Amino acid sequence: MSEIYQDPAMPVENRVEDLLGRMTIAEKLGQLSQLFSGHKENPEDYIPQIAGGRVSSFIWGKADPALRNRLQRAAVESSRLGIPVIFGMDIIHGSRTTFPIAPAMAGAFEPELLERAQAVAAREARAEGLEWVFAPMCDLARDARWGRVAETCGEDPYLSCLCNAAQVKGFQGADASAPDRVAACLKHYVGYSAVAGGRDYNEVELTEWTLRNSHLPSFRAAVRAGALTVMSSFNAIGGVPAVANHHTLTEILRGDLGFEGFVVSDWNAVMEAVNWGYAKDAADAARLALAAGNDMEMLTSAYIDTLAAQVESGSFPLAVVEEAVRRVLRVKFQVGLFERPYVDEAAFDAAILRPDALALARECVAKSTVLVQNDGVLPLPKTGKKVALIGPFADDQREMVGCWSGRGQAADVVTLAATLRQRLSGLTVVKGCDTSLSAPTKTLQDGSVVPDPDAAPLDNSLDLEGAVRAAQSADVVVMAVGEPCGWTGESRNRAFLSLSGNQQALFDAVAATGKPIVTVVFCGRPLSSSSVFEKSAAVLYAWQPGVQAGPGLADLLLGDASPSARLSMSIPREVSQSPLYYNYPLTGRPNTSCYYLDLPAQGAKFWFGHGLTYSTFEYGPVTIIPAAGGKPAEAVATVTNTGERDAVETAQLYIRQLCCHEGGRPSQELRGFRRLALKPGESAEARFPLTGETLGYFTRSGQWQADPGDYHLWISPAAHVGEPVKYLHA
Ligand code: BGC
Repeated sequence: MSEIYQDPAMPVENRVEDLLGRMTIAEKLGQLSQLFSGHKENPEDYIPQIAGGRVSSFIWGKADPALRNRLQRAAVESSRLGIPVIFGMDIIHGSRTTFPIAPAMAGAFEPELLERAQAVAAREARAEGLEWVFAPMCDLARDARWGRVAETCGEDPYLSCLCNAAQVKGFQGADASAPDRVAACLKHYVGYSAVAGGRDYNEVELTEWTLRNSHLPSFRAAVRAGALTVMSSFNAIGGVPAVANHHTLTEILRGDLGFEGFVVSDWNAVMEAVNWGYAKDAADAARLALAAGNDMEMLTSAYIDTLAAQVESGSFPLAVVEEAVRRVLRVKFQVGLFERPYVDEAAFDAAILRPDALALARECVAKSTVLVQNDGVLPLPKTGKKVALIGPFADDQREMVGCWSGRGQAADVVTLAATLRQRLSGLTVVKGCDTSLSAPTKTLQDGSVVPDPDAAPLDNSLDLEGAVRAAQSADVVVMAVGEPCGWTGESRNRAFLSLSGNQQALFDAVAATGKPIVTVVFCGRPLSSSSVFEKSAAVLYAWQPGVQAGPGLADLLLGDASPSARLSMSIPREVSQSPLYYNYPLTGRPNTSCYYLDLPAQGAKFWFGHGLTYSTFEYGPVTIIPAAGGKPAEAVATVTNTGERDAVETAQLYIRQLCCHEGGRPSQELRGFRRLALKPGESAEARFPLTGETLGYFTRSGQWQADPGDYHLWISPAAHVGEPVKYLHA
């Protein structure tokens, strides 16, 4: 190797400096530019731009290792310095092997499960030639109307911290340059989920107190887990777009959180600073974003078009450009691109959908599906009962893949119907209706087809007769209902948390037969249909379960696996309660501050943390073991399996600080959990240390602080369950 930057034996910092020293301003700005290969029909039309050193990264594109290598060859062999391109994509809950979506996986309360799943996703992604994935999503879910709750790890910062750190480890491993690992990208930094009304891309008002204690912790945990990149978000906070926010991107992310990787904008977001009324034009947007700490520009070309002139005229410091380039190059070295720029085309097919990946996907479904209620109808006997499986989600492969499908393909999916047909004799399957009413459209003069808000909704198929007949001749009905995955994810906000389309009518008609109903809900957000809860003997929340939906769900329905998952988001009674989350702040009038006159019952239908097993558990009182001999005080409760089956119970520690002069703290905060695998009659202690780590919070300037004083503690099966004990922290 002739040059320092090409020598793998040299430290990364030396290689970066050596390379930077050789680059022209145009090449430097090229390293800050990310393009979408799909913008050209033939991505190879980008080759002149790549060879000219004007492209640092591609987003999306086909899963085609040979094409990817052809593009890379232009960078490595034809560009002046041979700097490889980094290829990135949204691999969110699996690549070709799709796993359950994040709120489901978080509900397993087993962060290692997420780590294992994302390690599989990384392996499949790298095999096609991606070195970078735009995950995990560290945003906090607080408003079920917001479609992107489907990508979050739920509403609790503590659980989110553990789950997002685990995902980073899964993607990157100990060394992101390994042939089966990729760089992670934490998104969307920051405050994106706090959009007013749960409407995507809307304004955000966020105080420093809430930012520090609710929205930042999971980014901090994931940065500490070694995340190499961060994506700035679409939203503005208090009028300052995230992409141009020096306080969050530089003072907090790099200063307080110690992040050393690079920041990429979200899609078009640099130029959206103009739409926000914050930047005047492209030059202004580029200057503001880069100076704030946004290193790479996704899609738009404000940096590459305007910054060279600004640097040359002396109105923008070259040092700022160079610092951003350093950060990008560092990551390219860290993912091993200079040593291994090409992907092994022949190895691709063997790397995807491997048996161990599918086995893990099935385990994930069983561990992340929440048993919300059960009168004893579940598990179903494997013989001797006639089962009718009814609903549009029973046999729909595409719906199982979920909102971000990665490389997932419907044809790979095993549905619930497909599995139960094999495992139960005498099963009847009826679709009943479509997942949604297709929205009426109209054709404009220019030929484009647009939604027609004035037309009556189309009355799609509704086979009540067939469904009722199947129910009547069965002993038990399994209803597979929910919302289409296309109604979840980015910009998919909902005004109602109901079953979509004709499904409620279908459900009501089947329920009127009086047969016991097991409802399996497929969704990307908490859905709340009160009649579903009232009229079902059992309810399972399957979320969007991925490629092994059928086998994993059948394991639970037939009792081969015992449910153990918990809700990572509270289920409201009515949409009007949104935003609703268990860790709401204390108020001056706690009994009336979330009260609605015309709601017969208040609070959530089911709070965060709720989830049943096929057994029952009793919690003993919480006792405090005082600190002694250098060991911290502990909170302890005995948990006993009082039922008749082996099961895993997740005991949860909640805290409340009674008085905090920095600012009132939430009514409850999860600060620990223990998964206890217990046989019938068996007991175990759930023990939690009461340290500053357990009890503290972030001050407005970002320091972790645990105040001496009184706390309430609960060890319970869910949020807002049971009576607290008082604990004096010295
Ligand atoms: C989304 C991001 C995503 C990006 C690239 C944006 O619209 O907000 O989450 O990573 O597109 O696909």
